[in-house]
Amino acid sequence: MHYFLRALREAAKSWPLLAAAMLCSAGVAALWGANIAALFPIIEVTLRGESLQSWNEDRIEVARRRAEEGRAEQKTLEQEIAAGSRTGKDLAWARSRIDTLTLNVAGDDAIVYSAERLAPWLERFFPTDAFQTVLLVVAFVVASTFIKHVLLLGSTLLVAWVAMNISRNIRLKVFDKALSLDRAQFMRHGSAGFMAQVTATSEMLANGITAVYGGMVTEPLKIIACLGCALFVSWRLTLACLLLAPVVGFLMVWLNRRMRRIAQGVLSRSKGYHHVLLEALNNVLTVQAYTMEPFERQRFRDCTRDMMRFGMRNAFYHALANPITEVLGIGMVATSIAVGAWLVINQETQIFGITMTEQPMTVPGIMIFFGFLIGASDPVRKLSGVVTGLNMGIVGAQGIYPLLDTESKLVEAAEPKQLPSPHREIRLENVSFSYDGIDTVLANVNLTIPFGERVAIVGPNGGGKSTLVNVICRFYDPTAGRVLLDGVPLTELSLHDLRRRIAMVTQQTELFNESIYYNIRYGRWDATREEIEDAARRAHAHEFIAEFPEGYRTMVGPNGFRLSGGQRQRIALARAFLRNAEILVLDEATSQIDVESERLIHEALARYVENRTVIMITHRASTLALADAIVEVEHGQVTKRPADRSRAA
Ligand code: ADP
Repeated sequence: MHYFLRALREAAKSWPLLAAAMLCSAGVAALWGANIAALFPIIEVTLRGESLQSWNEDRIEVARRRAEEGRAEQKTLEQEIAAGSRTGKDLAWARSRIDTLTLNVAGDDAIVYSAERLAPWLERFFPTDAFQTVLLVVAFVVASTFIKHVLLLGSTLLVAWVAMNISRNIRLKVFDKALSLDRAQFMRHGSAGFMAQVTATSEMLANGITAVYGGMVTEPLKIIACLGCALFVSWRLTLACLLLAPVVGFLMVWLNRRMRRIAQGVLSRSKGYHHVLLEALNNVLTVQAYTMEPFERQRFRDCTRDMMRFGMRNAFYHALANPITEVLGIGMVATSIAVGAWLVINQETQIFGITMTEQPMTVPGIMIFFGFLIGASDPVRKLSGVVTGLNMGIVGAQGIYPLLDTESKLVEAAEPKQLPSPHREIRLENVSFSYDGIDTVLANVNLTIPFGERVAIVGPNGGGKSTLVNVICRFYDPTAGRVLLDGVPLTELSLHDLRRRIAMVTQQTELFNESIYYNIRYGRWDATREEIEDAARRAHAHEFIAEFPEGYRTMVGPNGFRLSGGQRQRIALARAFLRNAEILVLDEATSQIDVESERLIHEALARYVENRTVIMITHRASTLALADAIVEVEHGQVTKRPADRSRAA
């Protein structure tokens, strides 16, 4: 719950909008009550052919007469008591009758007082003709309904804006988090995890916020407006009608718990669903090559069926919320009809010895009372939808905030140090690294790479070559020891400063579903067209690009699927060349390029690598030929030796 409160607090930052929305809601509630209050009595009065003014005068006259009769009876009784003509039971009855009369007289005096105040207003604003009065009331109801809906639209839009804004902000934060976590932290959630958070979870949270700021205010306000008016008509009768409320309240709490659990189920199923979907689609070639379509289809069927099952349960409890709240509404109305009708038919003020009203109720009086109760029961029903939304919000917040609270292990230096470019050396001091805290991948590594050196990293698979490079580029911080650039630990440099010194090409080239031009330009956004083409020439990519009908504007498809592996690597190389960084990292970067092209690239590389540090993970002798030093990584141990150029060549 406290996570959801956090979301609500964040939403509350847009308080001017929410305040405006609440004002609109208050207006809606007031008009809701006013419509009911206006319709019943006035129509009742005017359909009898009376005008409001004459009805008011009659009221004054009747109340005045009743008050006078009451006073007279009271006086007679007092005199009889004083004269001692009433004794025993009769005396007690007379005393209680005097009390009742006092109350009734006070009530009648109040009616006279309020009706006399009302008279000039009725004179000024209401026609004296009954039909015209009906037209006026009808016009009022139509106009107030129109205004009510304008206000409702305003409040809905304002709350929707706040909720969508929050959900957008949360999406931005999830995206930022995904980009800032270190690689191991990212992989713990995976693309599917982040996808589910960005779509389903933030949607649930937005629903919750809309429910709270939209319905949690409007609907209770409507209930309060109607019950307040009903209390005004007869507070005892209103309380009597609310006898069912605790039972329904208990049922709602129970339902609430069930719905929250189901919302949690829906969320976890949605994560699984994204996972199965993305995995099958991203690895579609493997799925097809190994004819695993039936298996994947079954997996997807299973998880969608699972989702459907939860969806049905959700729908069931959601639907159950309606009858429960409606039972409260109908229960209220039914009780009030029974009690009210008994009072009106028998012209009584008491039921089971409990005083319900001061005056016997009139038909318009009980009609308006029913009207208020019916008016209160509709928002009570709608409140169940609000409760569902609230539950979704709570579950969504519980899913999303722990992720947002995950601190990235790559902590940015508070006051980053500045270093001149180019650097003089990269040094690893007693660096150890472990992904899981158990298996040591790098053990006490000491290594110095002076600026301008070309280092080839070799060793068996799983030896720790990529890990070593990742630690140098600060995709991970070492578990122990330090990586220093010109004597300054990487942790004291800004990540941006460090990464702008590095150009990297990995074995799995990552391309965007954009043009070739866009993909190369990603290396340096301000590069000119000539510079981009020059980089492409050096990476021996220009030849094949020029053969495409659309040249550099050719769209490469998702992850570059329209290109061959070698073509993709050449584009990635061009991107790295364009970056013109002082450290070039090549992780098996030419592994998929044919021998002839690779030879040409190496020629270009030999020219390009002048005056920069190059770190190459490679097995190829031709690449080794470029190296000044060989770093061998095996079982986390690192040894460096000068390259034996004659042998490598
Ligand atoms: P190389 O590049 O020499 O083939 P790596 O540096 O990729 O080796 O991997 C070294 C070891 O670290 C391997 O045993 C591998 O299983 C493990 N490893 C690599 N990446 C991760 C990761 N993200 N989480 C856990 N273990 C990993």
